[in-house]
Amino acid sequence: MKAGTAPSGEELEKQIEQLLDQERFDPPAKFAENALLNDPKVYEQAAEDPVKWWAGHAEDLHWFEDWDEVLDDSQAPFYKWFRGGKLNASYNCLDRHVEAGIGDRVAFHWRGEEGEERDVTYAGLHRDVQRLANALKDRGIGPGDVVGIYLPMIPEVVVAMLACARIGAPHNVVFGGFSPSSVKERMEFSEAKALITADAARRKGKTAPVKPAVDDFLGELPSIETVVVVKNAGEDVAMTEGRDLWYHEALEAADAECAAEPLDAEHPLYVLYTSGSTAKPKGILHTTGGYLTGVAATTRYVFDLKPETDVFWCSADVGWVTGHSYIVYGPLACGATSVMYEGAPDYPDKDIWWKLCDRYGVTIFYTAPTAIRSCMKWGADYPARHDLSTLRLLGTVGEPINPKAWVWYHLVIGGRRCPVVDTWWQTETGHIMIAPLPGITATKPGSATTPFPGIEAEVVDEEGDDAGTAQGLLVLRKPWPGMLRNLYKDPDRFKETYFSKFGPTTYFVGDAARRDDDGYFWVIGRVDDVINVSGHRLSTAEVESAIVSHPKVAEAAVIGQTDEDSGQAICAFVTLEGERGGDDEMVAQLREHVAKRIGKLARPKRVVWADDLPKTRSGKIMRRLLRDIAEGRELGDVTTLRDPDVMSQLEEKVAARRDEADA
Ligand code: ATP
Ligand code: MG
Repeated sequence: MKAGTAPSGEELEKQIEQLLDQERFDPPAKFAENALLNDPKVYEQAAEDPVKWWAGHAEDLHWFEDWDEVLDDSQAPFYKWFRGGKLNASYNCLDRHVEAGIGDRVAFHWRGEEGEERDVTYAGLHRDVQRLANALKDRGIGPGDVVGIYLPMIPEVVVAMLACARIGAPHNVVFGGFSPSSVKERMEFSEAKALITADAARRKGKTAPVKPAVDDFLGELPSIETVVVVKNAGEDVAMTEGRDLWYHEALEAADAECAAEPLDAEHPLYVLYTSGSTAKPKGILHTTGGYLTGVAATTRYVFDLKPETDVFWCSADVGWVTGHSYIVYGPLACGATSVMYEGAPDYPDKDIWWKLCDRYGVTIFYTAPTAIRSCMKWGADYPARHDLSTLRLLGTVGEPINPKAWVWYHLVIGGRRCPVVDTWWQTETGHIMIAPLPGITATKPGSATTPFPGIEAEVVDEEGDDAGTAQGLLVLRKPWPGMLRNLYKDPDRFKETYFSKFGPTTYFVGDAARRDDDGYFWVIGRVDDVINVSGHRLSTAEVESAIVSHPKVAEAAVIGQTDEDSGQAICAFVTLEGERGGDDEMVAQLREHVAKRIGKLARPKRVVWADDLPKTRSGKIMRRLLRDIAEGRELGDVTTLRDPDVMSQLEEKVAARRDEADA
């Protein structure tokens, strides 16, 4: 789409309505023709012998020593992949590309908030990673020692992760937007020996001190013997002699060469905490060989990535699993060129993403539904300012995507020519599990379609029997290479959470889903996000999608609230477009709208106008907190909440309405 030609206003609404009526979107013929995978037989081949299928992908990696056994399932649910094999993730992401002569290829087009640009090549990363690895080794850090990483979206975060991987020190990355107390908790829990952080972080034109905030808790964490500080914002910070090192000085002083440690396939690669939308965050443990196999294969085939010509951009923060798998390990293992942006999607202006797509010729763009909804709210004029014609594939992850957002993305960003891959997976799964193969699978807005080849998913009832086309519980029947191996130092919670409901060989996902007549999966949301109205099970996502399809609504979250008549009643928290709050007339309109889309049963009994919704720092709506508010309970764990003010505002509103009702 050329600048200025995007439809807008009524014309846009009309085209969206038309596309919403279209049930299936076949892969465009030309896309399919050129796709890496375009023969549906690949599904059968993988299903015949999934273990062999995954072994084939593992062979694409570099191994120092071959494995003895692909899958050891003798101690389920503690599975082992590529037992006896030895490899190194950093070697696979860097050395082998440099050795193959593509060291000059750009790994990251990095863009700073104020417009600074740095092109980081594979050779450049290789150089810095070796030096940082040596600096860490000099401080006595070796295989098995946990290293915390608390950095903004700057290339040094990638160097830090790969330096850890190089020496076998599992990293524990904490999203830069988290508060120091969350960092402290995660460091304490993982008994980190070192922390790599920055003097300060930049956010929307302001500079926020990081090192001084970290200093406040370091005194209480004696396990941290080394702190490496990246001079990011040029701030003067206090350095503790013997403990703190400047990153640039450490690199300069370190030896240039550091051979990658041959590590066991099951050597821990990292610990990462989940976003905390359902409960207290869990420390997910991933290991090396299987994880790298899974992320590399899915990067290549779900995104149809051709490293020689594509420019890939995953807009997530590196502090989430999406960033680990699809900014760092997947794309680098494939030798891809990516974009990395330091700032927020609305800084310096709301068109920055599209400006950068244009600037770097991005061909594959991967983001979250919540971000797409924000872009929708800001309007099609922002993308229309830029030439987005290089884009050829779009992806989403993180939440069910409501069909309207899918269609908007496809139309306004993708110019109707780009397949949209809706990818379902979790921190726990390590890599994409359910998603289309863009050259093969017809897509349906709102469905992640079918499992990636080699993955076996099912929707079952409470007894564990196939639920047919009824709504049920999503399970994964077979182990897969990138699966979590444990919860950090908590094997009991690991077994209890994932492998107790249906036994030790069936992974309980915790998401509700249903399958349609074509066998497509529609992931509905968390199991606890399902509402039971008079015995009918409704999904929050479905009701939310119906509410959001009203032209005046920007965002909505619905929850089930205890109700004398119907067991549970639907309470909707709704944000309207623009600055307006709603009135009774609007409530009536919304109820009518939902009745038309789904049925009378799904009409919200209560509507609360919200200026904003409580979200995790990764942008997911925290329905459990809304349930707490609606039921007048004390709030559960709020440490992963992005903006605590949102909660107090909502609490006041809900309390005011309660008083009204009582009066
Ligand atoms: P916690 O487990 O602490 O509550 P979380 O589940 O939000 O946090 P993640 O592992 O980042 O943390 O998110 C995985 C979840 O996100 C999935 O279980 C699912 O509910 C949702 N999800 C991710 N991608 C999709 C998708 N494409 N469609 C529907 N839901 C998705
Ligand atoms: Mg989860």
